[in-house]
Amino acid sequence: MRIALIAHDEKKEELLTFVDLHKEEFGQHELFATGTTGKRITELTGLPVHRFKSGPLGGDQEIGARIANQELDAVFFFRDPLTAQPHEPDVSALVRLGDVYKIPMATNIGTAKILIQGIIRGEIEHG
Ligand code: PGA
Repeated sequence: MRIALIAHDEKKEELLTFVDLHKEEFGQHELFATGTTGKRITELTGLPVHRFKSGPLGGDQEIGARIANQELDAVFFFRDPLTAQPHEPDVSALVRLGDVYKIPMATNIGTAKILIQGIIRGEIEHG
């Protein structure tokens, strides 16, 4: 599966811990991420990650474009709901496209735990 990973700054540690915990599973998929998130995942886990631009510099839009082209199967997007983001319109656009194309998208750790179990069990549709 093609999986995108994105975390806002205040959520990066949480996503990194999550990916590291499920490293074996994530290692079986093709991973995509915004710039800093992807760099840190690779540094921590050694997993190969295709990196787009940093979120505020257009990375969210690049991932949105992948969704629109039906080139992603699942998204883990750990948003920070308590901090204003300069690229909030891009964040909204990405989530909106996820809904348009019915992409399983976890926007917090609670949903992420469920989504990864679905991926492990092979329950997520592959585009
Ligand atoms: P980053 O982008 O991974 O480059 O930090 C994430 C974001 O802020 O959308």
